Amino acid sequence: MIPDLTNINVVKKICNDYGFRFKKGLGQNFLCDEDAVLSIIEGANIDKNTSVIEIGPGFGSLTCHLLKYAKKVTSIEIDDTLIPILKDIFSECDNFNIINEDVLKLDLNDIIDDDNTVVVANLPYYITTPVITYLLEGNFNLKSITVMVQKEVAQRLTATPDNKNYGAITCLIDYHTDSKIIVDVPSSSFIPAPKVDSAVVKMDILKEKRVLPKDEKLFFKLIKASFSQRRKTFLNGIYNSNILNIKKEELENIFTGLGYDKLTRGETLSVYDFAKISDALKAKER
Ligand code: SAM
Repeated sequence: MIPDLTNINVVKKICNDYGFRFKKGLGQNFLCDEDAVLSIIEGANIDKNTSVIEIGPGFGSLTCHLLKYAKKVTSIEIDDTLIPILKDIFSECDNFNIINEDVLKLDLNDIIDDDNTVVVANLPYYITTPVITYLLEGNFNLKSITVMVQKEVAQRLTATPDNKNYGAITCLIDYHTDSKIIVDVPSSSFIPAPKVDSAVVKMDILKEKRVLPKDEKLFFKLIKASFSQRRKTFLNGIYNSNILNIKKEELENIFTGLGYDKLTRGETLSVYDFAKISDALKAKER
């Protein structure tokens, strides 16, 4: 029988039995809250037709429930001391597979083998942005990505233009997905308890990207340059970043010609705006 790995006493006993020590450097705060785990599974719409890729199973508090609800679960864990523990705990589950690797070094295409695959993770906070960027920029055949992150980060991931939390990562997410916060989780739900509260964000991957800029690289260069100098106007931010081989006056004419005020700040622009501006700049190149 699979033990209830959301139960603090069970986790403490496993730590003792296996002589396991938490590694702060790997963001090891384990979720010991069954309600939160079940909200994640429900929010991620996991059922017997779903293949789950779980990043960072830890002691398996999420994994043990995923295994009950999903068709199969492939967990990727960097910490080799957790691998024999997880193999023991889930030895009876024939829908469980574990890979001992850094997720950022894997090609998920080697793992994804059906059209109903989702990613679920209680992410180590120190690699939240790299993991989300990797998952989205990889254009993998995924239906959704559901991740637990720091609450402030969740607000950033789901922000709308002209909000202080809106940034380049929000644009990347909006380009690829429909995103929303599905549940808040207090720090007391973890052992050891982190200093901050968390929230779970669900990102449904769009079949077609939200906008189709003619030059995707230019589109993202504009976004990056706009947010690296938030306080500047869009025009000054772009001009100072030297990403374009264009005179300031010409840049201003293209921008105002599209109907924008020259004092517009980048943080007020949506992905639709960035696509419109990058297409106009691209057209001028010819
Ligand atoms: N899912 C478990 C839970 O909810 O209790 C553990 C979550 S803990 C916040 C993050 C887990 O990710 C840890 O087990 C850690 O060892 C693992 N991890 C950290 N960096 C990783 C990486 N680059 N690739 C794969 N796993 C990683």
